[in-house]
Amino acid sequence: MVESFERKLREFARLLVEVGLNVQPGQTPVIMASTEAAPLARLCVEACYDCGAKDVLVDWSDDFVTRQKYLRAEDAVFQTYPSYAAAKTAWLMENGCPRLSFAGSDPELLKGVDPARMQTWRRVAGAATKEYSKALKANRYQWCVGSYPCPAWAEKMFPGKKGEEAMDALWDAIFSVCRITGDGEGVTRWKEHIETTARRCETLNQYAFKALRYRNSLGTDLEIQLPENHVWLGGSECSTAGIPFVANIPTEEIFTAPRWDGVNGRVYSAMPLSLGGNLADRFWMEFKDGRIVDLHAEQGEEHLRSSVDLDEGSHYLGEVALVPYDSPIRNTGLLFWNTLFDENASCHLAFGSAYPTCVRGGDALSDADQKKAGLNQSINHVDFMVGTADLSITGVQADGTEVPVFVDGNFAF
Ligand code: ZN
Ligand code: ZN
Repeated sequence: MVESFERKLREFARLLVEVGLNVQPGQTPVIMASTEAAPLARLCVEACYDCGAKDVLVDWSDDFVTRQKYLRAEDAVFQTYPSYAAAKTAWLMENGCPRLSFAGSDPELLKGVDPARMQTWRRVAGAATKEYSKALKANRYQWCVGSYPCPAWAEKMFPGKKGEEAMDALWDAIFSVCRITGDGEGVTRWKEHIETTARRCETLNQYAFKALRYRNSLGTDLEIQLPENHVWLGGSECSTAGIPFVANIPTEEIFTAPRWDGVNGRVYSAMPLSLGGNLADRFWMEFKDGRIVDLHAEQGEEHLRSSVDLDEGSHYLGEVALVPYDSPIRNTGLLFWNTLFDENASCHLAFGSAYPTCVRGGDALSDADQKKAGLNQSINHVDFMVGTADLSITGVQADGTEVPVFVDGNFAF
């Protein structure tokens, strides 16, 4: 039992390093890890050296120490970004260090901390590391987000289980949705998965659909127009140096941007949506010329409304993502309370901002030109699931030809 866990953890580490980060000989990757995640981080270090890394850096944090700092350090500490930390970030950029991090920190970690203090620090650290975040978003070097469970997350997912038992259940779930079985073939399975995804992206890009029509028995009847020159993305991305990497593990989606002003009809949710820990469930949204003009939720309508009302752009869609109903994450039947997993459970849409890269050359456009190209802008981005076992999606080409994209919840090709 313990031995099989070790084997799976090692296979998971190899997946994150060889496929996620795709470390190249001579590179110096940096791993951001909390001390809780040390067993996985150490295996990742080994895997990086196995790939020929020149050096491997681990940026350790410790949840206990972090909490003490927020509770007890002097105010001034949160008002300036230390110069040594800024120098370190600059060094990581200069040396093009690939970056691996793990989602899954304790949601209660900063409970009771003065929110003003956290906000000040977020602003100060955000401003000081702006160039670094921009470089990552622009894929200047490879990056990958994996996950490491903590007891609070595990117990939230498995309310009937406590401590170790909940952690074991969460590990089982993570391994299964990441296609880790302990047979050492996780990397091979992922390479196949990435190839299938790339082939579907290519097919969709060749069709260059003008619109997609969604229908299912819940009552979804929605038409989504796509921008001219839209691009379907998914699976692996490429760094500016041309090194492929997978930014999220797991990932199942193929996505693009809708025309922000080209959505009409009604869509029904297929799964509960977690909004900062609050659930909205069994809801529909009605669209007219892109804007959400009406919505209703059987549970948590007030949370859904307040999220949609965050800003004007939040009333429009920014993402269309295709995920087969028969996908590892939905097949677990679990709600992970974590976007990294939950957004990969089924076909989803997002209200709020679009990814500029979803239109050819979009990331080089000004904000105004991005909007003209059809890309929505907002400070919000909320993914919600719409894929059901009977969802059909029909693509409409420029000349009106209709092509089945999804039949009975799964890809038609
Ligand atoms: Zn998505
Ligand atoms: Zn999204």
